[in-house]
Amino acid sequence: MTRVVLATHNQHKAGEFQQILGDAVPGLEIVAYDGPEPVEDGVTFEANALIKARTAATHTGLPALADDSGICVDAMGGAPGIFSARWAGRHGDAEANLRLLLDQLADLPDGARGAYFSATLALVTPEGDETVVEGRWPGSIAHEARGTQGHGYDPIFVPRGHESTTAELGPEVKNVESHRARAFAAAIPALRELVARG
Ligand code: IMP
Repeated sequence: MTRVVLATHNQHKAGEFQQILGDAVPGLEIVAYDGPEPVEDGVTFEANALIKARTAATHTGLPALADDSGICVDAMGGAPGIFSARWAGRHGDAEANLRLLLDQLADLPDGARGAYFSATLALVTPEGDETVVEGRWPGSIAHEARGTQGHGYDPIFVPRGHESTTAELGPEVKNVESHRARAFAAAIPALRELVARG
């Protein structure tokens, strides 16, 4: 088994990664990380994912995988972007974050509400090889929150090709179509190469 450490203290995420990537990349074992967490002071998803992956690779001596994600609104020049988790000022207050975003977009008509979810994955080896991939899920911002499934901005994001929000669509659609699913798919060749190298 080739072990790759997942640079997150979130057990739920480690399980999700193992489930999706473990099936797609035979011989890969995702292990949890319990070392120091770096300050995420990058100004892009890529920079922050790399900061987390480099720290975990250095600390463990294992290849490390890290992700960074958020929602990007076209009319706002890509904001909230890296500030998605703390858009309303407090880290992780999802309800306040989406309320503020809805208020900011209140006057915009349907055609001007384009947005996408982005997920960036960074894979860093202890030797310093770095691979970065991004998955995007295009769509638009609804006029009001709808649905109870999911987390974060799911109640206000309507993926392209759907009329429901991701919080109404639920995990079956999300697991297949989402930014994270797309980023995972894009990371598979690099992970397979890592396993092949032994
Ligand atoms: P992190 O990558 O876990 O730090 O997530 C950053 C923030 O982006 C989260 O707090 C959410 O607000 C938002 N976000 C990222 N992915 C999703 C998603 O799939 N649904 C809803 N919100 C998301």
